[in-house]
Parts: sequence; C-alpha cells; structure tokens
Amino acid sequence: MADIVLKNVYKRFGDFTAVKDLNLNVFDKEFLVLLGPSGCGKTTTLRMISGLELPSEGQIILDNEDVTQKRASRRDIAFVFQLFALYPHLSVYNNISFPLKTQGIDKKQIEVEVQKIAKLLQIDHILKKKPKQLSGGDLQRVALGRGLIRKPKAMLLDEPIGTLDAKFREEMRTELKNLHIDSGSTTVYVTHDQVEAMDMGDRIAVMNHSLLQQIGEPHEVYSNPKNLFVAQFIGSPGMNFLEMESVTSDGKVLLKFTGDGTTIILPDFLEEKINNKKELSKITWGVRPEDVEIVPEGTKNSLRGAVFVIENMGNHKIIDIKLKDGTLIRVRELPKSKLRIGDNVSITFDMKMVRLFDTESGDSIVFQE
Ligand code: ATP
Repeated sequence: MADIVLKNVYKRFGDFTAVKDLNLNVFDKEFLVLLGPSGCGKTTTLRMISGLELPSEGQIILDNEDVTQKRASRRDIAFVFQLFALYPHLSVYNNISFPLKTQGIDKKQIEVEVQKIAKLLQIDHILKKKPKQLSGGDLQRVALGRGLIRKPKAMLLDEPIGTLDAKFREEMRTELKNLHIDSGSTTVYVTHDQVEAMDMGDRIAVMNHSLLQQIGEPHEVYSNPKNLFVAQFIGSPGMNFLEMESVTSDGKVLLKFTGDGTTIILPDFLEEKINNKKELSKITWGVRPEDVEIVPEGTKNSLRGAVFVIENMGNHKIIDIKLKDGTLIRVRELPKSKLRIGDNVSITFDMKMVRLFDTESGDSIVFQE
C-alpha cells in the first residue's frame, strides 16, 4: 500500500511560507494532480514528498512509514522534472540502467529490465543513442524510463511535458496515464495547466498562495467549487461572475444585479442558502458558459446585453455577451447559432447550476461536502 500522507506540513524559506498547513492523502495507485498558478507551492510540496526538501513542520508518511526526516535516496520514490536530467555522455541504455547498476544488480537482470521498460515506453529502437541525438519527447521517455526502472513505490512528476509542443503533449498525456496504470505506482503530478489536470487526474488538489484550496475528482472541482479561486481557475473558458446584492421584497429574498439593477427571483433552494447567511449582502453569482441560455427579450429573470465577440471552436461557439454595465458573459452555443456581433440579446441561467459566493471571503455558500 504505497499511499502518501502529509500531516500539517509547512515549509518556510526565511520569513516566507511556501506551503502552509498542508494535509493531503494520496491513495495507493492513485494519479493525483497538484494544480495551481506559478509560485503557489506545488514544486515545494513535491520536493518535500521526495525528500529533496525537508518540511519545517509536520509529518510525511509513505507506505505507513514516517519518512519525514529520511533522505531522498532512502525513500523509494522516483522524481521526474520538466528539465530531463540525463547524463549527456551516457547512451539511453546506460542512462536507464544507471539506477539498477548502483544497486549492484547483475548484468543479465539489468538487460531484461531495460528491455522491458524500453518496450513499454516505445524507445527500444534508440537505446544506443546519446541524449543530444534525441527529440524532446524521446528525452522525456528516457527520463521516465530511468525513474520507473526501479519500480518505485511512488512517481513524482513535475511539469514533465510542459516544454513539448501542443500536439505531442496530448499524446504524452495518454502515454503517461497508461504508464501509470501499467506500473501501478502511486503518482503525484504537478502542473499549472487545468486542462491537463482535468484530463489526467483521478483527483485534483488545487493550490493557491501556499494553501490547499480544494481536493476532489475532476467533475467535483468543476461543478462544486469550494471558493471563487477554484471556480475561476478550473474550466476553459472559466466560470462567469456577476456581482449581486441581496434585497428583501414582500418577505422574499431576491438578488439584484448591481450592473443594471435587474432583480432575479431565486428558486427556493437558493433563497434558503442566502437566508442561512443573513449577514451577507454582497454575493457573487457564478455560472458556467454551458449553463447560460440566450432567450427572447422580456423572458422572466433575464438580463439584457449585446453580442460582443464570437469565437468559432468547430464543435461549438463561444459567444461573449456584453451587459449594459460592461460585464462580459461567455455563453456556449451550438455551431449552427445564427447570432451576429451587435445583436441585442437576453440571457437566463440554469438555476440548478448557479453557484453563489460570498464576495468578500470568496467562499461558496452552496458548496456541498
Ligand atoms: P512554479 O510552477 O512556478 O514552479 P510552484 O507552485 O511550483 O510554481 P514553488 O516552486 O513551490 O511554486 O515555489 C513556491 C514559492 O516558494 C515561490 O514563491 C518560490 O519563490 C519560493 N521558493 C521555492 N524554493 C525556495 C527556496 N529554496 N528559497 C526561497 N524561496 C523559495
């Protein structure tokens, strides 16, 4: 059971805290993605799991063993960086076999293991080449081969395909997932690319400002974001936001769009959520592009605007609607949509999919544990 547990982990560099009170449980054989913007603490977290960096506080447990103070070489973890750290003077074969040689394993066994991993990674035809003769993708496969040959308990991958071109990144994403399944290693994968995270992760741990914001399966962080940061970071295009004020009329709570004063009548389940948070007056209304509908003018609960930009994405269109106050709402439409720039339109929302946030704290008021 190679699960990895981080308990109340902190990492400080002088006065700066790069990772704050991190509690994380990576399950055996799981593919966990650490996702967040540059500088949020992803690499530092990975380096602490590997043993290249020691935590300032807290505990790291690998496979039921407390490894907090253990050096990297004693943790049975493979670490693959974005910059492929290969020995330039050694052939691919010798680069891959290096970790086994240092363990004193006999030559015949090494030959068997190298051939096996090379076949899995489809690099058996380049074993005699030197790193400088290889493409970016092959270099990355060799680096992975070197990491995997020891059959580590865990694989840590830090933006391993970030430097590859877009088409190749897509291929490598699938390969890495297959490799993870074949090798059975618990994997922690760092990226700042949310598309990559959604595509690859069994679960995604979203970080920002040194703090874990939310952890969950891709569909959970997408449809049930815990706060405004997660809501805007996940999804492409991101969630739309409207600033609202809660007002009471005839004993009913309504939301007033601050942009043009239009009031929105809420279904009971949303009204109840706001009623439970009576102290809140400023509320951010969040809705994904696929949950906005273009409707005839005068439709109940609709906001008015005009088509500002149309993006043709092939299998759908993204239509930017500019509301009266300048707020832009992005709507996902079918490719056959006849809308044109400048058309006056009205929009409504799928109320079941609307997410409400406390504007000040950013916390969701509809989040479901
Ligand atoms: P990126 O994707 O840009 O690498 P990240 O989320 O991986 O971002 P980290 O590399 O973990 O971020 O860095 C988190 C913060 O800690 C950054 O502000 C970084 O400058 C700081 N930091 C990291 N290592 C050190 C160090 N050895 N000394 C001082 N500060 C550091």
